[in-house]
Amino acid sequence: MLLLKACPKCGGDMHVGGDLYGSYASCLNCGYLKDVEDGDDVRKRLKVVATLREQTQKQAA
Ligand SMILES: [Zn+2]
Repeated sequence: MLLLKACPKCGGDMHVGGDLYGSYASCLNCGYLKDVEDGDDVRKRLKVVATLREQTQKQAA
């Protein structure tokens, strides 16, 4: 997911990614990294997207 012009350092676009240990946003322009805490809005939204995708796949099967 992209957060447009969300970088506090350069105002560039940030990409939100994650792993088992949590989510983070990284700036595509300057490389600035920001942790996204559990319970953060972004993480909630990612979870919703994953759930919707799961439901869509079940319906298709
Ligand atoms: Zn930046």
